[in-house]
Amino acid sequence: MQLVYTHENKILVENARNLLRENGIDSRLKNEYAAGAMGDLSPIQTWPELWADEADYAKAKAIIDDLLNRPAGQAWYCPQCGEENDASFEVCWHCQSER
Ligand SMILES: [Zn+2]
Repeated sequence: MQLVYTHENKILVENARNLLRENGIDSRLKNEYAAGAMGDLSPIQTWPELWADEADYAKAKAIIDDLLNRPAGQAWYCPQCGEENDASFEVCWHCQSER
């Protein structure tokens, strides 16, 4: 497997994972619970990581690059629960309502 994406914000990594899933790519989350180890490891080692199979890597990377290159829009507020969502999210991270 190969590392496709990592970020200190687990929500962003999960968002990327959902996007891959929507595109039919299986991926694995590593370090999901490593934040508790902070202090023993350097902070970057505790970031959640998204890994994909070799066969899917190129496609997965292209999808993530596309996601990262989207113009940074405005954060938006969920009409259902009122949570603030990153501009790159298509659905509310909290309640999964459509934007
Ligand atoms: Zn919501």
